[in-house]
Amino acid sequence: MRISKKYGVNPSILVCPICKDTAIALLGANGGKEAPRQMYGELCDECKKEYITILEIKDNKPTGNRGFIKREYINVKVKDFAYMESSEFNNLFKNSC
Ligand SMILES: [Zn+2]
Repeated sequence: MRISKKYGVNPSILVCPICKDTAIALLGANGGKEAPRQMYGELCDECKKEYITILEIKDNKPTGNRGFIKREYINVKVKDFAYMESSEFNNLFKNSC
């Protein structure tokens, strides 16, 4: 890990988007930028058991948008995440953030 001259190990609090459980991330140099005080990270291990992460793609590229679905609502085996075409993604998640 590269240490930032200005911000040192540059810690940020990672928040699980579902249960708000927290962990610490050390961003180091981070392209010269200060780490955000906190940010949404991956699902925690507990939530991964219950939810999968859906990543929006447009023209075969990830857009950075994501959503979460309870495993009980999907009928295919998915490990931790799946990709979804933008139009479907927006149908599913347009009312959430
Ligand atoms: Zn969680």
